[in-house]
Amino acid sequence: MASDPKTTPTHVRAPHGATVTEITWADGHQGLYPNKILRGYCPCAGCQGHGGTRSFIEGGDSELREVTPVGNYALQLTWGDRHDTGIYTFAYLRSLCQCQECQATQATAGTK
Ligand SMILES: [Zn+2]
Ligand SMILES: [Zn+2]
Repeated sequence: MASDPKTTPTHVRAPHGATVTEITWADGHQGLYPNKILRGYCPCAGCQGHGGTRSFIEGGDSELREVTPVGNYALQLTWGDRHDTGIYTFAYLRSLCQCQECQATQATAGTK
């Protein structure tokens, strides 16, 4: 699988106690991820069920405890309440980016 720079993180910054995680991508993009958003969009089946659409789930503990690389395609995030079943693929993370640039693009792309 050739790696696409858009879905290849080169640096993940998740300082302890911070509320925002930053991911630098290989194409130079600086991604911004409020931990609340990451937790709310936890992709595990327990949070999202088995439906095709992802939705924001409120109420989870958004203290990010640990970031663990999974293979070379995803990150596993462990939360303050020890919820750690969410495997965030790089492509998924990229699509969750909350920076102004991405938000503007997402707004014009139109969502279902
Ligand atoms: Zn989950
Ligand atoms: Zn972005």
